[in-house]
Amino acid sequence: MKRTKSDKFFKRAQQHIPGGVNSPVRAFKSVGGEPVFIKKAKGAYLYDVDGNKYIDYIASWGPMILGHAHKPVIKAIKKYAEYSTSYGAPTKLEIEMAELICSMVPNVDLIRMVSSGTEACMSAVRLARGYAGKNKIIKFEGNYHGHADAFLVKAGSGVATFNIQSVPGVTGGVSNDTLTVPYNDLEAVKQKVAEHKNEIAAIIIEPVAGNMGCILPKPGFLEGLRKICDEENIVFIFDEVMTGFRMSAGGAQQMLGINADLVTYGKVIGGGLPVGAFGGKRKIMEHIAPLGNVYQAGTLSGNPLAMIAGYTTLKELKDNQSIYKELEEKTIYLRDGMKKVLDANGRPYVINQLGSMISLHYSEQPVVDFASASKADIQMFNKLFHYMLNNGIYLPPSAYESWFLNNALTYEDLDNTISVLKDFLIEHS
Ligand SMILES: *Cc1c(COP(=O)(O)O)cnc(C)c1O
Repeated sequence: MKRTKSDKFFKRAQQHIPGGVNSPVRAFKSVGGEPVFIKKAKGAYLYDVDGNKYIDYIASWGPMILGHAHKPVIKAIKKYAEYSTSYGAPTKLEIEMAELICSMVPNVDLIRMVSSGTEACMSAVRLARGYAGKNKIIKFEGNYHGHADAFLVKAGSGVATFNIQSVPGVTGGVSNDTLTVPYNDLEAVKQKVAEHKNEIAAIIIEPVAGNMGCILPKPGFLEGLRKICDEENIVFIFDEVMTGFRMSAGGAQQMLGINADLVTYGKVIGGGLPVGAFGGKRKIMEHIAPLGNVYQAGTLSGNPLAMIAGYTTLKELKDNQSIYKELEEKTIYLRDGMKKVLDANGRPYVINQLGSMISLHYSEQPVVDFASASKADIQMFNKLFHYMLNNGIYLPPSAYESWFLNNALTYEDLDNTISVLKDFLIEHS
């Protein structure tokens, strides 16, 4: 597969963009090789600047759950763009968006729109601290909550991909207020909470982890955290930037039957435009300005184009919830097909999957937390990544990322993916 134009663009990009990219994982540094520059996408397919076509398993890291350039979304954006692209004053669209979200997800009385998942998580933690009058937070090793200072301690996603142990620029003061424990380790949480009695404002978690590959919460783990939060007066924050509107119309809260106090959203919520949101119980959310003194604001928050793209996507998901069943069936089909060829090959592997999130680790032991995810054979994943890419299948360029299915994928696409995996395994047995 020729990528001469992509290679040229990458050289040119590096002249004026750090590393040639605007978000690190796109640079392919961990998998090696050079990034592919995309020209356009439609449905389940990406097309690069050299005219190559790829089956897309990233879906823009989640948002394109209905497929790329989904007609109703594009039509709505075009219509609203004619009215002007931003006002900095309230609009009816924002009310409709808030009403729609509150009607879909459990436990959200009030919701504030922002422009990214990072902003949502950062603001939710500030609110939790302001509400609780305490400073420390607990997060889980390998969970990623965006790039705000407080979260860059043992973070997943790009921070794990690039093996960055501590991030220069994050002060000791900030890091000291972030306590970390292994994912799925309830005892470790109990111990931390006991060590820091009455100091912990919030526990923030990815209810299904997607930033160290896909990792499921063990039975009882989230329930145990809920209990600790209730007993110790700690705000329980679900970071549903990845799982929100993907696991189900009501997100992981609904799918797993656990209530959080605050929830953050991003990715799917914007239908491909920059949107995030945080919301939750009224008695906590009332502390946000202008109702309360916890300050939070945004010039482009609730931007009309972002709102209509998000609204159109969420409305379709709400009205047509069979999409989730279809997506899950496709993901299970892919999982089982991959298992069949992997079993025949004999090399140890782990596939974790829930709903339309799935990942493959070349690991001999179950992958349940960051430590076990790190022990997987990354070199094998990297070889797989390039083999798939050169055969028209675009996986996330890191073993530490979940794959996201979109509903435009056909069973033919899935068969094609399994068959390329089979060829890869024959060549690498
Ligand atoms: C992507 C992600 C974020 C950050 O969202 P951005 O929009 O990239 O700032 C936060 N939390 C989780 C769980 C994510 O997957």
